[in-house]
Amino acid sequence: MNDIIQLLPDHVANQIAAGEVVQRPSSVVKELIENAVDAGATTVQLICKDAGRSLIQVIDNGGGMSVTDVRMAYERHATSKIKTTEDIFSIHTKGFRGEALASIAAVAQVETKTKREIDELGTQLIIEGGEVRNQDPVVCATGTSISVKNLFYNVPARRNFLKSNQVEFRHIQDEFQRIALAHENVSFYLHHNDSEIYHLKAGNLKQRIVQIFGKKLGSQIISVEEDTEIVKIKGYVGKPDAAKKSRGEQFFFVNNRFIRSPYLHNALCDAFEELLPAGYQPSYFMYLELDPARIDINIHPTKTEIKFEDEALIYTIIRAAVKHALGQFNVIPSLDFEQ
Ligand code: ADP
Ligand code: MG
Repeated sequence: MNDIIQLLPDHVANQIAAGEVVQRPSSVVKELIENAVDAGATTVQLICKDAGRSLIQVIDNGGGMSVTDVRMAYERHATSKIKTTEDIFSIHTKGFRGEALASIAAVAQVETKTKREIDELGTQLIIEGGEVRNQDPVVCATGTSISVKNLFYNVPARRNFLKSNQVEFRHIQDEFQRIALAHENVSFYLHHNDSEIYHLKAGNLKQRIVQIFGKKLGSQIISVEEDTEIVKIKGYVGKPDAAKKSRGEQFFFVNNRFIRSPYLHNALCDAFEELLPAGYQPSYFMYLELDPARIDINIHPTKTEIKFEDEALIYTIIRAAVKHALGQFNVIPSLDFEQ
């Protein structure tokens, strides 16, 4: 009998991996902006057309890439961010899997222009469906610009699965907001179909919250701070009268990475206890800093879920910190709620 097992060609493997990493246009937005931030950019511009279907472009003024690195960047499992397994436990960058660019390039037409400060000329690289078309020297500014065109052009099933432009753009905005909230010291711009949606100048956290959610919420938030050996907490919670019946603005960041945690969400709700009538939700922007060795962010490719070693303790510390903040500002239930 003949042996029948073969290794998949790279472009097939990449396209399969893309199924996990690139679910919709907003996944591309997340990966490209995270790379820009990891590259040390102080200004990041996002330009989208048709909710990212025809174009997602991210322009940064970060470190750029060498001629060889820009080609390597699109190889699967190629990364400059970790070298050993130990490094996974002390991660300070957004990326580390080395999967994003290879996955994106497998399901789109991708044009990269990049230049390092020390280089006179930059490099332009064009990849379509995982195949390199061109690589040429180009005159460009220091930093990197990546244009992702016609996402899923070669995966009709994925393309058909996309929702309306309105829904897809909402997802893009969500990702954009999360990263902008995690990096208030970076300027972020978002253009969609030639209109400017956000123009966020670098500033402090409160300014960033106001830039995104408006002055009203800015006047309704109070600062939370706590410093323990296990976790450092900073951030803001909305006063009870800023609570909403719908989910309000609710954000958790761990080591500057947006995460979802129904468990820690309960810690917040618990802290508000009797301050909110049934059905009302608190707004919060909570930033936790933890020893990377005591968390596991490796459980999902899109990395919005993580495991904490000291989950129950963190819950208690968050609840106490928020209660303290609410008490300190002498917040009592608003009269509006009493009927
Ligand atoms: P990861 O971010 O997990 O390392 P990616 O596939 O997203 O994997 O990127 C691969 C590599 O390409 C990165 O490790 C980085 O060295 C380089 N790279 C990607 N985007 C940029 C950028 N905007 N500026 C500079 N280098 C980049
Ligand atoms: Mg990355």
